[in-house]
Amino acid sequence: MAGIEPRDYQPRPDLLHERVILVTGASDGIGRAAALSFAAHGATVVLLGRSARKLERVHDEIRTAGHPQPAIAVLDLAKAQGPAYFDLAEQVAGTWGRLDGLLHNAALLGERSPIEQHDVGTWQQVLHVNLSAAFILTQVLLPQLRRSTDASILFTSSGVGRRGKAYWGAYAVSKFGVEGLAQVLAEETRDNTRIRVNCLNPGGTRTAMRRKAYPGESPDARPEPSAIMPAYLYLMGPDSRGVTGGSFDCQA
Ligand code: NAP
Repeated sequence: MAGIEPRDYQPRPDLLHERVILVTGASDGIGRAAALSFAAHGATVVLLGRSARKLERVHDEIRTAGHPQPAIAVLDLAKAQGPAYFDLAEQVAGTWGRLDGLLHNAALLGERSPIEQHDVGTWQQVLHVNLSAAFILTQVLLPQLRRSTDASILFTSSGVGRRGKAYWGAYAVSKFGVEGLAQVLAEETRDNTRIRVNCLNPGGTRTAMRRKAYPGESPDARPEPSAIMPAYLYLMGPDSRGVTGGSFDCQA
């Protein structure tokens, strides 16, 4: 698989057979599509989000399609404190005894505004949900990821997390942080674990967040989340074994 572009990957149907993968922000948009796609390729998916009602809908879609029974983890990443994270880690340990994949996907856009006028509360909330919560979740789940024979941690980046862009405020800064966190963790796990850590930028994709960021854009100007899944499947599955510390794009 050397030299493959993740976005050109063609997964086999049973790619994620018997893998346990947790997806944050699985209730909508790209996270929902990733949860459905991982399940369709054989994974048992832990659906994490803040709305039980929306997660139940995704859960039912997966079951109706005949894929492995998913689990639901209701956790509001803006509000959750230590014990809620530890309960989740215990649930994973007690149910499966390991974790094979962790997709950090949940994020808030916050506000599009100049730094000079950026609301401080919004700044803190965006940095917390997009970056600090991913750090805490990774920390509590690392013992279970270490128990996998082939684990993948995938962070969700953005074009504005690689090159700063006016008015993208806390969102852009949080994504720079995500890229940094992934690099640091990749170095720390490279030689002494079977865990790989990478970043993936979906590129403009037809979701509620995209509509909020670009209200004037035609709805069909961007691909559906389901169309960008090849890169997610590549980086989550065994064919990316040995690939770590990278930052990839779903779209050309
Ligand atoms: P989206 O449609 O707004 O979905 C965001 C997901 O995150 C939803 O499931 C949402 O839950 C969840 N979430 C938000 N706040 C949360 C919280 N406090 N606790 C738990 N879950 C929370 O966004 P998207 O476009 O699919 O974005 C997915 C990822 O791709 C994000 O990391 C985003 O930065 C990145 N990205 C997207 C684009 C794009 O064009 N769409 C481009 C570059 C990067 P609810 O359903 O409850 O709201």
